[in-house]
Amino acid sequence: MKNITIIGTGYVGLVTGVGLSEFGNKVICADIDNDKILKLKAGEIPIYEPGLDEIIKRNVQNNRLLFTSDISSSIKNSEVIIIAVGTPQSDSGEADMQYVYSVVNEIKENLNGYKVICTKSTVPIGTGKKITNILKNNFKENSDFNYVSNPEFLREGSAVKDFLWPDRIIIGTSSLIAYEVMCDVYRPLYINKSPINHTSVETAEMIKYASNSFLALKISYINEIANLCELVGADVHDVASEMGKDGRISGKFLHPGPGFGGSCFPKDLESLSFISDEHGVQMDTLTAAITANRKQKKQMCNKLEKLVTTGIKDKVIAVLGLSFKANTDDIRESSSIDMINFILSMGGNVRAYDPIANKSMSRLFSNISYFKNVYEAIKKADALVVMTEWNEFIDIDLNKVYELMDKKFIFDMRNILDKNDERLGKFNYFGLGN
Ligand code: NAD
Repeated sequence: MKNITIIGTGYVGLVTGVGLSEFGNKVICADIDNDKILKLKAGEIPIYEPGLDEIIKRNVQNNRLLFTSDISSSIKNSEVIIIAVGTPQSDSGEADMQYVYSVVNEIKENLNGYKVICTKSTVPIGTGKKITNILKNNFKENSDFNYVSNPEFLREGSAVKDFLWPDRIIIGTSSLIAYEVMCDVYRPLYINKSPINHTSVETAEMIKYASNSFLALKISYINEIANLCELVGADVHDVASEMGKDGRISGKFLHPGPGFGGSCFPKDLESLSFISDEHGVQMDTLTAAITANRKQKKQMCNKLEKLVTTGIKDKVIAVLGLSFKANTDDIRESSSIDMINFILSMGGNVRAYDPIANKSMSRLFSNISYFKNVYEAIKKADALVVMTEWNEFIDIDLNKVYELMDKKFIFDMRNILDKNDERLGKFNYFGLGN
């Protein structure tokens, strides 16, 4: 078991820190955001992630998990340093690496004996080599440090489970010693039989981008199939479910929706596209996934306009679900943002409800109304749009909805309502791809 510092205590860093302490390591979660650290020290969890609070409490009580904004000391006191800061998209599409390199400089200033420097942030292929070269200016590889790329595959909303029971762990490093150190960090996963795979740094970096791009491509593909299903009289639900029974395809990520969002897929696809351009490689499938997604978001807005036959101006639209997917408060690149912007630009009014993400969205839109439950949000609404697949929307009381709404348009962008439910027959109900 190791002494570890995770730098960056966001969605990935916090779950990683907590997960590694659950494995028995002594972990310091460090962040420059002092408010976040103060909250964590006071037992407050800055993000919504099911199951996280319980294991934070347990590991803090067992003295295996600490929070700090003193990054220098935590680096000095640890054998393994994990970088988990953000790598957002810059204007050119390239990943903005300023946070990663600022952490690398901090590490350089505080390296005091052999440490494994590991990147968990999603970074462009070649970053590992650059970080190694920066450190090599002042230190000796193998005796002072070794570098590891250890990409993260957790999904927000099921991050705790994904971290504790991963499909695989990728350890990209040229050093056998660092590989052994990382195996030790993840030791309990041997018991769970999760494979730990040793690759080169570049391969590990590429695995992350290739995986995210492939999943995003699958979503864009089924969205396009759904759009075609509507025109040819097929039902995308049946199409996707039968496609998914083919082991070569698998049913995962075959759910049509309003276009993918979140803090990963959109920016990671843009970043990979930038990298492929840099190398003069035209990745047509990747570009298609990006373009199809942009189109899908626009098309869904246009569809709403078409469905509400008398136009959106002065209409009241209830938007249910604001986060980019269920079980998270993360609204980064959420399709709901596009939808709300569209409704407002057309002169409509938005009544919004999300079980968790009202607060996050209110930082972006102060000119819409937020409600504490579905039924308040849909009062006197002309149309209701389901944007996120939260479980509570599946069990919505359709009789009550009918009574409360003014006009009776339902646009179910996640196909979560049962279209065979006869109560839906009283509405102008539209799903995707049927
Ligand atoms: P985030 O924005 O939630 O968290 C980043 C944290 O880093 C913030 O708390 C910020 O204050 C902190 N930070 C920034 N600069 C710092 C510095 N110099 N020193 C210390 N802390 C600093 O980001 P995230 O969603 O956790 O993503 C982190 C990385 O993991 C990204 O590269 C992302 O692509 C990757 N990733 C994310 C997910 C996901 O589902 N969110 C999944 C896999 C991989």
